[in-house]
Amino acid sequence: MRLLLIGPPGSGKGTQAVRIAEHFGIAHISSGDLLRRHVAEETAIGRTIKEYVARGDLVPDGIVMDVLRKPVSAASQANGYVLDGFPRTVEQAEAAYLVAKALGASVRIALYLDVGRDELIRRVLARGRETGRADDTEEVINHRLQVFEDHTRPLLDYYAEREELITVNGARPVDEVAWSVTVQLQRVQRQLNG
Ligand code: AMP
Repeated sequence: MRLLLIGPPGSGKGTQAVRIAEHFGIAHISSGDLLRRHVAEETAIGRTIKEYVARGDLVPDGIVMDVLRKPVSAASQANGYVLDGFPRTVEQAEAAYLVAKALGASVRIALYLDVGRDELIRRVLARGRETGRADDTEEVINHRLQVFEDHTRPLLDYYAEREELITVNGARPVDEVAWSVTVQLQRVQRQLNG
């Protein structure tokens, strides 16, 4: 299975991606986690992108593609992946499509976690207090939500026209969301295979 997880900050992408990866035996690849690791380890990439991540701005496409290339192609050759946080823009989706097509590994399912703005802000601020993540602050979250609206929301139309787009109400308790996600993914998988 090759799956893209789309959702604003605080929608539960990371949490649900871990569940999906376990359930379907596929790799969980998070662009945000990979980028944060570079920042924490102070690699050359990490030094270049640190300010983008701290401000809540998107990291330039070329860097994101470089960081993802190896894990995505390894997972494509194994059981597949759930990609959490990529693509974030239609441009990234188009670039990823060309790479995946060349590998014979196009994505067929996109999953959108739908959560309202007040709940997103509540969750992100709670996570910020827990983890101290630099971009989970009141100043940065508003910008990140705006970046989602401006750059990432258009992806939903893009995928609705091209792939299976599943929308799940993510504003419920984790287990309920995970259950809905699994049921919907199994349904779509049966359709695609049938
Ligand atoms: P996330 O963990 O998905 O919330 O991502 C945290 C931050 O990492 C974002 O605010 C961006 O600065 C950066 N980032 C993650 N994924 C991408 C991506 N696909 N394209 C550009 N920047 C990204």
